[in-house]
Amino acid sequence: MKVMKFGGTSVGKPERMHHIVTLVNSDEPTLVVLSALSGTTNALVEIGYHISKGDRVMAKQTIDKLEAHYQNFINDLVKKPELIAKAKSIVAEHFEFLNIILKISFSEALSKDILAQGELLSTKLFCTYLEEQGIDHVLLPALEFMTIDHYDEPQIGSIKIKLSQLLKQHEGKKLFVTQGYICRNARGEVDNLKRGGSDYTASLIAAAINAKVCEIWTDIDGMHNNDPRIVKKTVPVEQMSFEEAAELAYFGAKILHPASIWPAQQYKIPVKLLNTMEPKAKGTLITEKAGSVGVKAVAAKDNIIAIRIKSSRMLLAYGFLRKVFEVFEKYRTPIDMITTSEVAVSVTIDNATHLKEVIKELEPFGTVEIDQNQTIISVVGNEISQTEDMIKKLFGSIMNIPVRMVSYGGSPHNISLLVSADHKEQILQQLNRGMFGLE
Ligand code: ADP
Ligand code: ASP
Ligand code: MG
Repeated sequence: MKVMKFGGTSVGKPERMHHIVTLVNSDEPTLVVLSALSGTTNALVEIGYHISKGDRVMAKQTIDKLEAHYQNFINDLVKKPELIAKAKSIVAEHFEFLNIILKISFSEALSKDILAQGELLSTKLFCTYLEEQGIDHVLLPALEFMTIDHYDEPQIGSIKIKLSQLLKQHEGKKLFVTQGYICRNARGEVDNLKRGGSDYTASLIAAAINAKVCEIWTDIDGMHNNDPRIVKKTVPVEQMSFEEAAELAYFGAKILHPASIWPAQQYKIPVKLLNTMEPKAKGTLITEKAGSVGVKAVAAKDNIIAIRIKSSRMLLAYGFLRKVFEVFEKYRTPIDMITTSEVAVSVTIDNATHLKEVIKELEPFGTVEIDQNQTIISVVGNEISQTEDMIKKLFGSIMNIPVRMVSYGGSPHNISLLVSADHKEQILQQLNRGMFGLE
């Protein structure tokens, strides 16, 4: 079986939904993972925000605007009167739910229920169109098999068992559809795999069913060598290893959810990044093989905070780093980069939820300095740290930009730099020129 995941823009317009049906309708058994229509999750976040602030008027306005969008969408999605009626009742059901929520007092759990409406709607509407086309299919509710534990980690073992039981109930069927992003948490409540999480769903499913391939269909022809939202001339990378893709995803290449590579990597499932608008384009193949040595791509991760702990007591003191790390562990705050000197250690984090508590507990160790608004620039490529001239090229092309931290050698495939966010565009552009020869 193969897994095909389609992102928001790939299903964002009725004609796009029609188009992807031509891509999924083959003889090969296929499990389709869908995101919400583009813009929907952002609107649902906004609705939750207004409700949490007690601004029911704004929440209602946003709900009504979104509902109007869906009414328009279904007008062009299906033609048969009975299926128009079905699509209308799907939309009515989900917006009725949102309108009921307006009257309930806000909670974290309720906000997750709001966020889940996007994927629930897109999959049901997609199946209505499949029905109109007379294409046999089964809708598998993700909330019946996709689960996360107390630490928000997907429970791959249980996902495997539940999904295979569900698939067994439909033996002989070829086309399955399910929701990306949404899941159930350890308390049995509706939850999600964080923004962009449909990629993660696809990879988890591919691992759970030992799929032949996990295809991520989006609006661009694969992983590019640089961020196409910022740099004009970028080119797709044909092949890369799981390690390279994982580094790029984690360090800001938005095309993939940060955690979406490990399930495929662990279960050795090839991942393909493909373009819905240009299905014949090669895209990017991600397997155990890197394809080539040397730099593949650069990515930028925003909203980074650098923390420096200066302490004369650190000098030759074993156990110092353990104590520092324990503070971050206590507050479940992951560290991305780390550099040390004899009298100081600098780390970066991107989760500021417990920043105040972390600082308070670090202060007894020495002077604590904070730099907000930083960006990690990661240069990724198979064995780049061993590649001749790499460092010269890298630093040669950014000599005019102040660098706050450098991480080299942690992974043979990644060199990361920490710069002020103000320099992000400039550094990505200069690296494009200096490392890829692209203007
Ligand atoms: P989807 O809705 O299909 O999940 P996303 O918007 O999440 O799509 O991801 C695709 C987008 O990722 C592209 O349109 C592109 O702007 C952005 N992107 C950022 N970095 C890269 C990169 N290195 N290669 C390709 N796309 C990238
Ligand atoms: N709809 C969700 C989001 O916008 C998940 C996804 O698109 O992958 O974040
Ligand atoms: Mg995405």
